[in-house]
Amino acid sequence: MRKYGLEMGIGIVIVALVFLQTLGINVLPFVMLAAIAGGVFYVSRGKGKLTAMSSGGGRKTVKPSSFTFDQIGGQERAKQELIEALDFLVKKEQIEKLGIRPLKGILLAGPPGTGKTLLAKAAAQYTDSVYMAASGSEFVEMYVGVGAGRIRDLFKEARAKAKKEKKSSAVIFIDEIEVIGGKRDGGQHREYDQTLNQLLTEMDGIHSNESPRILIIAATNRKEMLDSALLRPGRFDRHIGVELPDKKGRLHILRIHAANKPIDAAVDLTGIAEQTYSFSGAQLESVMNEAAIYAMRDNADTLTSGHLHMAIDKVMLGEKTDKETSAEERKRVALHELGHAIMAELVRPGSVSQVALSPRGGALGFVRHQPQQDQYLYTTGFLHGQIMIALGGAAAEEMFYGERSTGSRGDFDQAVGIVKTLVESGLTDAGIIDSSMMTPDKWSKITTDILDSLMAKTKEMLDSRRGVFDHALQTLLDEENVGGDEFRALLSSYNAA
Ligand code: ATP
Repeated sequence: MRKYGLEMGIGIVIVALVFLQTLGINVLPFVMLAAIAGGVFYVSRGKGKLTAMSSGGGRKTVKPSSFTFDQIGGQERAKQELIEALDFLVKKEQIEKLGIRPLKGILLAGPPGTGKTLLAKAAAQYTDSVYMAASGSEFVEMYVGVGAGRIRDLFKEARAKAKKEKKSSAVIFIDEIEVIGGKRDGGQHREYDQTLNQLLTEMDGIHSNESPRILIIAATNRKEMLDSALLRPGRFDRHIGVELPDKKGRLHILRIHAANKPIDAAVDLTGIAEQTYSFSGAQLESVMNEAAIYAMRDNADTLTSGHLHMAIDKVMLGEKTDKETSAEERKRVALHELGHAIMAELVRPGSVSQVALSPRGGALGFVRHQPQQDQYLYTTGFLHGQIMIALGGAAAEEMFYGERSTGSRGDFDQAVGIVKTLVESGLTDAGIIDSSMMTPDKWSKITTDILDSLMAKTKEMLDSRRGVFDHALQTLLDEENVGGDEFRALLSSYNAA
């Protein structure tokens, strides 16, 4: 009702004025008075808005009271390191007694969706602090000085909020710190420089005996971009890596997000954790959520393995699309996918788990590989094999059509990415080199040399197995989805024949 109070008031005043006018009373003085009152009211409301804008626009403060470290899966090492760092805030007397310099900033660095925001929220809960969150991009404005003003306001607000809530400390979380804390390059971005300078000034102004104490937690996916002034001791001097979860971590995260969902008793979450190699926490949360949506579509009471597998495909490859492809295009896609799958079985026997012709996301078909063991070291042979699997699709198209199509773009991106890893790890003929010193020409030559020689090898290996393509093509066109075991049976029946 309150929402409409103003409108109703204006309506009543207008009706009253019209009524007075009909009675022959001069309403002009009333109208002028109303206009002046309205103006004063508008300005006072507008002013309120202006202050809110300059203090950070869409910034949110979140009550972290219910968010704890237990609700964060995996990340055991990051949690441990963070808790140790936070003890500087919790064990105040000991810190003072030993004369330890207060910790002002903690930097969480790692890929997107790994739980950096969650860690900051849990940190606020652990230290019983007020929590304020902002993102680097909120401080970027066209006008010099506005970003710096917002930083000042953020610190002021955090202190005021902590005092109001009678807390002795406040945690300020700044996501995407690289937006304001990128390396300074001599004054081209004065606005960015001023914002960063203001942040440094605010951090320098934090003292151990001040109340409330402020702790800044910043997050970034691009630590290498940060200005060294931010990273030096006394500023963000604790750096905690928040990496993609390993299998145990993935299982933990899946269990956390399964807790509020009815999971079928036959579901093997360990198997799901194996199949979600290289997924981030956010992707695992999405797998659980999408599986629940599939269960709802099926009118099912529980989430089954089928729902979870469909959800993994969706998160990995995108939603199924109903792109209509011509028979000729479908055949090309089938040969392309067979190229990947046959190559995968040659390089790593038993590795194919599904060959599919159904369009998904941007792809018209895909090959799913058996879950990989968590692996952190790769040999040259392994990486060459990965490149050959990626090139298998284009090689097959060349074999059967004499030319490639645009369908190999993603495969080439993947292959070039692996070449980069090879070069940076000193695994090429160029030897151990500083890749940042390499000219674009040198990069181009190394990449072309490696890819050309592996493409030739791929074609040679596939060409000697032309018959396998003919043998498996019709089955794939008819069935659309061929499972790993069925595919291997097709290969061995061909070999036997
Ligand atoms: P970005 O770098 O993109 O800001 P982030 O690292 O801050 O990402 P969060 O915002 O913390 O990631 O995570 C996004 C969502 O993913 C969370 O709300 C949560 O549902 C899920 N998630 C991510 N990591 C974990 C984890 N370790 N345990 C449980 N859930 C997680």
